Amino acid sequence: MSRSLKRSLLPAVALLVLVAVVFLVLSTRPRLYSFQGQIMGTTYNVSYAADLFSHPVKDISRVVHDALADVDQRMSTYKTDSELMQFNRAPVGQPFRMSQDIVQLVLDAEAISEMSDGAYDITVGPLVNLWGFGPTQWATAKEGQENDDSHERVNAPEFVNWIESQYPGHIPDEKAINEARANVGYQSLKANSADSTLTRKKALFVDLSSIAKGYGVDQAAAVLRAQGVDDFMVEVGGEVSVQGIKPNGQPWRLAVIGPEMGKNGVSALVEPLDKALATSGDYLNFFEVDGKRYSHTINPVTGWPEAKRVAEVAVIAETTAQADALATMFMVLGDEKGLELANRLGIAARFAYYTDEGFETVTSEAFKPYLVK
Ligand code: FAD
Repeated sequence: MSRSLKRSLLPAVALLVLVAVVFLVLSTRPRLYSFQGQIMGTTYNVSYAADLFSHPVKDISRVVHDALADVDQRMSTYKTDSELMQFNRAPVGQPFRMSQDIVQLVLDAEAISEMSDGAYDITVGPLVNLWGFGPTQWATAKEGQENDDSHERVNAPEFVNWIESQYPGHIPDEKAINEARANVGYQSLKANSADSTLTRKKALFVDLSSIAKGYGVDQAAAVLRAQGVDDFMVEVGGEVSVQGIKPNGQPWRLAVIGPEMGKNGVSALVEPLDKALATSGDYLNFFEVDGKRYSHTINPVTGWPEAKRVAEVAVIAETTAQADALATMFMVLGDEKGLELANRLGIAARFAYYTDEGFETVTSEAFKPYLVK
């Protein structure tokens, strides 16, 4: 090739090399990808950092949705054929084989029931359903009826059930509350991890709504890690797990949103740093009768929706399932008893409670390091 030809090709080659280098740098530099979806009667949002080619959204969104759908299918009380609902209809007194992770969740929930003297109790289902916060309008267990049909649908025309299920706003009578309470009590739910079985010692209705959403987040986080995605934020219905950093090198920063509790409803900004954040509140799922609010957090001991002054609890913990359940527990305990327990056990919790002027917040010692100044 003549010298002059080489000289004339040089700029083109140099430009090509430059374009290739720029493309290489850009394609290997992490950028932020996001996708959303619906699951468990709520929405989910995922953001993750990856370079241009390594983890395309269509592949990542599919594996994440599959992981969430698996939890939904097995642990929902809203799907009559879910594994949990098959257990809720199984004969009382007989061990029923369950997936290992459900047995483990029940054991984890039992530990939180023990910690709170039963304020947190996943067997609260009959009361949740009676107050209209469950999947349908279940009747309470009939006196002495110990078998499958103890949870019959109310024999009202379908459209009445539908209306009631949308607008539960009725206060059951004491007799119905006592009947439902008779079938509540975590001590009557036996979990055996050796043979992976659960046994109902009475006509319980196990409701995992307070822990399984968080568990779904943990499962989604696990599939992201398995795909080699190390920097992500996964949120399902307000329960969040974060890991690593954003493409700009900053940690994931989350807003704790409460009802008019701060500027544009943000009550706090936190950086959970590879941990999980869950919130529970009385302002998203409730009804009012004569100006009094009845929320979906039920006190298993009284049988009534808890009505302490606490409006919202945010918890940061190692797993989202743990944070999810602890937040529900603290909604029942209230800010005074809850803060004392959180400080005694080193749990990161932030309580917002109603006052005559609006809201006040109190934060456990373990929560403070996560607050963004
Ligand atoms: P949390 O405080 O996390 O949980 C409150 C829930 O826990 C209450 O609704 C009640 O079920 C239960 N609970 C109340 N008191 C106690 C107590 N003292 N101890 C223990 N538990 C208690 N909702 C739909 O409308 N449609 C659906 O199809 C649907 N599918 C779901 C599938 C799954 C697998 C799960 C886990 C939930 C599903 N939900 C569905 C429920 C919906 O997601 C709930 O609103 C949500 O789980 C409650 O979460 P939260 O953060 O609002 O309140």
